[in-house]
Amino acid sequence: MPFETPETLFVAHATGRLLHVRACPQLLGLDAPVMASPGQIESLGMCIWCAKELSEEGRKYFDSVEQAVRSLDPSGDAVRPTEEALGGVDYELVWVPPSYSYIAVGFKERAVAWIGRGCVLHADGRLIDFG
Ligand SMILES: [Zn+2]
Repeated sequence: MPFETPETLFVAHATGRLLHVRACPQLLGLDAPVMASPGQIESLGMCIWCAKELSEEGRKYFDSVEQAVRSLDPSGDAVRPTEEALGGVDYELVWVPPSYSYIAVGFKERAVAWIGRGCVLHADGRLIDFG
């Protein structure tokens, strides 16, 4: 399944039948969803919730993590803890999907971290809570 927008895709388990983004409600209860292989990305369909999240329409891009965090929490209180939880992660793109439920941070066409309320999930599986 071709997709135009940068994101890292997952399957719920090795024989999963649908592609998901990491923040999909269907994956939230799972400890370790599996990163989709190039073959799976070619052959599997996309979960409906995730297809909507990936649509360019309604996706909003930001110049920096700080700008994105402030758009969701104008107080700015979360800016510093979020940046600390991100650590030195390299990124080129910051966006909020149509659901506005998280902030994605991307580098070279892939999401490298997802920022939720009071937490940052890194693509390598580390979850850093600061809430
Ligand atoms: Zn999904």
